[in-house]
Amino acid sequence: MAAKPIRMETDVVIAGSGPGGATVARGLSKAGKKVIILEKGPWVKKVGNLMVFVKATENKGQLKTIEDDGSVVFSAKCVGGGSLLYMGAAADPQIDVWKKHGIDLTQYVAQAKKDCRVNKVPDHLIAPGVKRLVAAAHECGYPWQNLERFFDPAKCKLNCQKCITGCPAGSKWTAIEFVQEAEKNGAIVMPNVNVRNVIVENGTAVGMRARGKNGQEYEVYGKIVVSSAGGMGTARILQRSGIPEAGSWFIGDPTVSVTGFLKEGVGQVGELGISAGWHDEEHGVFFANAYTNRSMFMATQFMGPHKLRAIKNQFRFKKGMEIMCKVTDDFEGRVFYEEGKLSKRMTPRDLMRLDHGKAVAEKILTKAGCDPTSFEYTDNILGHPGGTARVGKLVDSNFQTQIKNLYCCDTSVIPEELGLPPMLTIVAFSLRMAQHLESVLSKK
Ligand SMILES: Cc1cc2nc3c(=O)[nH]c(=O)nc-3n(C[C@H](O)[C@H](O)[C@H](O)COP(=O)(O)OP(=O)(O)OC[C@H]3O[C@@H](n4cnc5c(N)ncnc54)[C@H](O)[C@@H]3O)c2cc1C
Repeated sequence: MAAKPIRMETDVVIAGSGPGGATVARGLSKAGKKVIILEKGPWVKKVGNLMVFVKATENKGQLKTIEDDGSVVFSAKCVGGGSLLYMGAAADPQIDVWKKHGIDLTQYVAQAKKDCRVNKVPDHLIAPGVKRLVAAAHECGYPWQNLERFFDPAKCKLNCQKCITGCPAGSKWTAIEFVQEAEKNGAIVMPNVNVRNVIVENGTAVGMRARGKNGQEYEVYGKIVVSSAGGMGTARILQRSGIPEAGSWFIGDPTVSVTGFLKEGVGQVGELGISAGWHDEEHGVFFANAYTNRSMFMATQFMGPHKLRAIKNQFRFKKGMEIMCKVTDDFEGRVFYEEGKLSKRMTPRDLMRLDHGKAVAEKILTKAGCDPTSFEYTDNILGHPGGTARVGKLVDSNFQTQIKNLYCCDTSVIPEELGLPPMLTIVAFSLRMAQHLESVLSKK
């Protein structure tokens, strides 16, 4: 006979501990509210090695879309969510877009930059290969510049290549820091607990139903219920809770990296990734230097269709230069709640933007001294799953759904196409969310 569900009570129950959930949990616990975070993934404490990627991603980081056109979705499954694995790039939110939806993020962006140590990459951390790329971009007329990152430049070990496996140097900010702050404030964090659905009574959300890895069922009751399970996870929780339209409007910021191999000299081997670049707003493409480390290079090369060339490229790895092109995409995808299913049709406009990005990247790489016959392209990586509970379509400007007391706070709420690193936007709107929920709770 199945064990009886464990019943728990709190002020706020949150599904997911990525930057959205962690920021809300930290804010509310600091204000003295009782918070429980239910997180589907594990704590990943030993960072700085490739196993982190295996332990902390859904589907080992390789969810193909139903269309099977080479698009692959990356989403995290661990305490801290995607922030454990992200590259640390910071881009300002599109303030005017959010204002159109009645949300002014200005003050929260400033706060987020302070709380999450967002700093512009100083010149001494721009390594020689990247300098070569920047000079080539300038010669081609593209205004590349040093970018902002979530990091402490003083602690950054230039060329350690470990941003993407968790930054053992402690330079990169991750949401784990906010989760730990919340714990110190009294919040309860429950890893390896998968939220299935929201408990709704008389049209009002009163809790979440979840299951631990060991099969133990939980019913966690809260005055406020927040889904921060990410662009894919939140869609699925809402669908199972009687909101079938959740999961529509999926965007993923399709990203292709173009690698070229230098005729002479050493390339960007292991240099600090996404340290310089440019947002071409007119064409909807964000460009940056992409090279991270040998393992990532191998992984992305072997994900592509040309396995023989991928083997050959391992021998000329040191001559490699790589540019990432991230484009703004149309709201054309759909997350289905059965685990592992996602539809994402690339529209003609998406493909045009990608083609433009690739052409510009090839031009810069050629100018930097790469052999134009050597170009390689990664698959189309959808690293920013979101838009599935859009503001204005599914949640209101306070991120409340049609079910009273049920809120969303993660990339799912992004109201319009993005095409930029979203982390700063997520932390900013989650700071605002925590403030709003504090005032809601004070009236209960
Ligand atoms: C490799 C990589 C590099 C990236 N680089 C950058 C970058 O440089 N800059 C940038 O701005 N962004 C970057 N991103 C994107 C960024 O990490 C994400 O956009 C961000 O983490 C999304 O935050 P979130 O809170 O919406 O969701 P997530 O971070 O996805 O967190 C959601 C959490 O909810 C949990 N969850 C899901 N379903 C359930 C459930 N049913 N029950 C309980 N818990 C659940 C998941 O396990 C996860 O921990 C990168 C992403 C990847 C994968």
